[in-house]
Amino acid sequence: MEHPENDAQYTGLTVNSGVAQPPSVNPYLRKLKRKPIPTPGEMVEQILKGDVTMLSRAVTLVESINPDHEPIAQEVIEKCLPYSGNSRRIGITGVPGAGKSTSIDVFGLHVLKDGGKLAVLAIDPSSERTKGSILGDKTRMEKLSVHPNAFIRPSPSAGSLGGVARKTRETIVLCEAAGYNNIFVETVGVGQSETAVHSMVDFFLLIQLAGTGDELQGIKRGIMEMADGIVINKCDGDNIDRAKLAQAQFKSALRLFPPTASGWQPEVLTYSGYYELGIAEVWEMIDRYFAFVKENGYFDKKRHEQARYWMYETIDTRLRNNFYNNPDVADLLGDLEKQVLGNRLSSFIAAGKVLDFYYNNSK
Ligand code: GDP
Repeated sequence: MEHPENDAQYTGLTVNSGVAQPPSVNPYLRKLKRKPIPTPGEMVEQILKGDVTMLSRAVTLVESINPDHEPIAQEVIEKCLPYSGNSRRIGITGVPGAGKSTSIDVFGLHVLKDGGKLAVLAIDPSSERTKGSILGDKTRMEKLSVHPNAFIRPSPSAGSLGGVARKTRETIVLCEAAGYNNIFVETVGVGQSETAVHSMVDFFLLIQLAGTGDELQGIKRGIMEMADGIVINKCDGDNIDRAKLAQAQFKSALRLFPPTASGWQPEVLTYSGYYELGIAEVWEMIDRYFAFVKENGYFDKKRHEQARYWMYETIDTRLRNNFYNNPDVADLLGDLEKQVLGNRLSSFIAAGKVLDFYYNNSK
């Protein structure tokens, strides 16, 4: 008997059997197979045709932390490399609120007026804002996000700065192969990301605001030194005089800096992203820069230096990963660390031991 309460002695009482609960996992789910990853050859073929869906998939592979994806991503990048390089790579930085999104929107439309395609990428390892928030970035750049020739991609989600930067650098290669001849790389001008961006762009634009008279404070000297152009935003309404004053201050500050490696004298301009004033002038400056560095050979020299930098950077990362991801090394490190903390072994001897072990045991 199913329920003792259903026994004849309990008249007037029946217990019905319960209703079976549906399984918590959708039984049809298994039927929905994941789309298989296309072969690197197929991906590259579509990317070269400018297929945005395939480009996005490839970028997702580049950004993936799944170790199985890495060799596929690397093969795609390698196959795209011969088709890359033919673009103007422009880094854009400024503190939050400086007007980067507003400006990139209008700068982007300005460059797209002449045809061509634009990719907007970002390096922002610390950001909460960009954690997978494509929508966030799309609404930040209202007009560009609906432009058929613009490709907007938020920063790879948080990780080490080096890792995030490498992924962005690799994404540039894919975008160029897909025919994007203008690349903007945006970064929040507060930390070290500027150096990373600088290592992958041809022109570095610093967006500044006119403040309370002490504009030069709070801007890291190093960031100013990297800038090929400084533009003071929000030069509109009541703010025009202050913006002009800031322009004069930046100009005189720049005069104290040592000459740049390119021989280019960084310029300081004012504009208004919101009211779209002075945009053409900013781009004329950028055009002048490109003409100047292509003429004097610095353009190629810098790209070569960047390629070398990324080669060593990659070697560095791979060596480290290979070392730290080795389970035997990890075990030994754990042991040695205890000994060092217990004052039984010096740090140097411990380091030597684990490195010797690694050299002797790695293929
Ligand atoms: P981001 O944080 O650097 O991306 O800056 P946003 O583009 O989001 O701009 C920050 C704020 O400044 C927004 O409220 C904008 O509307 C405003 N803003 C941006 N550009 C201008 C400008 O040229 N003039 C004025 N008056 N406000 C601007």
